[in-house]
Amino acid sequence: MSQSLLNTPAQPDVVALGALPYGPQGPPRVLGRHGPEHGPVLVCVAGLHGNEPMGVVGLARALSRLSSLEETLHGRVVGLVGNRQALLEDLRFIDHDLNRAWFADRIEALREARAPLSDEDHELVELVEEVEPLLEGSGPIYLLDLHTTSGPGPAFTVVEDTLANRQFGLNFPVPMVLGFEEEVGGTMSNYLCDRGVIGIGFEAGQHREPVSAERADAAFWIALEASGILSAGCDEVAMARRRLETDTAELPPIVEVRYRHAISNSDRFTMNPGHRTFQPVRRGHRLARDRSGEVTSPTDGLLLMPLYQKQGDDGFFVVRRVRRGWLKLSAAMRRYRLERFLNWLPGVRRHPERAGAFIVNRRIARFLTLEVFHLLGFRRIGPVGRYVVLTRRTHDDGA
Ligand SMILES: [Zn+2]
Repeated sequence: MSQSLLNTPAQPDVVALGALPYGPQGPPRVLGRHGPEHGPVLVCVAGLHGNEPMGVVGLARALSRLSSLEETLHGRVVGLVGNRQALLEDLRFIDHDLNRAWFADRIEALREARAPLSDEDHELVELVEEVEPLLEGSGPIYLLDLHTTSGPGPAFTVVEDTLANRQFGLNFPVPMVLGFEEEVGGTMSNYLCDRGVIGIGFEAGQHREPVSAERADAAFWIALEASGILSAGCDEVAMARRRLETDTAELPPIVEVRYRHAISNSDRFTMNPGHRTFQPVRRGHRLARDRSGEVTSPTDGLLLMPLYQKQGDDGFFVVRRVRRGWLKLSAAMRRYRLERFLNWLPGVRRHPERAGAFIVNRRIARFLTLEVFHLLGFRRIGPVGRYVVLTRRTHDDGA
């Protein structure tokens, strides 16, 4: 591990002033490896977005304290750094978003390509080569993907809605956001989940806030216990829990994405100042401006990730609380495999080519039809039009 990285706790002013907390070489790809070769595996990645250094700082600090617990670990922990080049330049990405590029066929083509790769594709291939051998073990594999946001707000998890991911995500005492993957594709977590990895994204707070590094550090300890690598009762985990609980006591434990405001450069989108994650908004609430004028919330709910940076294609999200009873109901529905009966619903038919997928005609199907699909763990793939295609992860059976 680079010495300058380990020194950062003693130099919070470096972070506050906006300087990068590592030397001119940038952080190493592998921040640390600990624990025996058998048992569960926890892959913890930080800095997939290069303007999010606090995740890297938090992870490096946590790993440096893990050395003293080496003998007590029941599995392997690997700490990885995402977009090293972009971290050095303090940019979300250089050529394209590294966390929107994880598509299996694309990765295969890149690994076989002989031509020089773009900055992000080079990072992608290196990361795949670190992660690939870890997938071969017999124990369960967990992913903790650390991020931060451009706007202010408390920590939360982003969970792809399989039963195993939910169970893992419920260990973190911060709000859990479901339904994100329906809006955003090609994430590392998406790619690994398709390969049976149990994983969550953890949003630790604002990009440059030292508290975001503290929360990322806390998330790491909770993930270690939740994955079974660390036995219950470790002081670090109890402290981590208290650290996260202090910011989130008033917030709903589970929410679902109801709206994504997608943007492109030509929109000239500018968020109005003063908004923050989990701020309540009403339908019609003025949130931003773009080339067509005022941008308002299309629905009541809570604001998530208002965009206060130049790069990125999500202006903001609106989420709404999900009741725990709803989660229990959906777990039971998945276990009984009620998707067998989905094509009995009006406006729903099986996809002629994709096994396990359904096509919903939105002119015929009622709004509740989509809710039933969500309960069963289905998510939309592709654009929203008259027809939407929904599919479900094959291994999401609650086993
Ligand atoms: Zn990010």
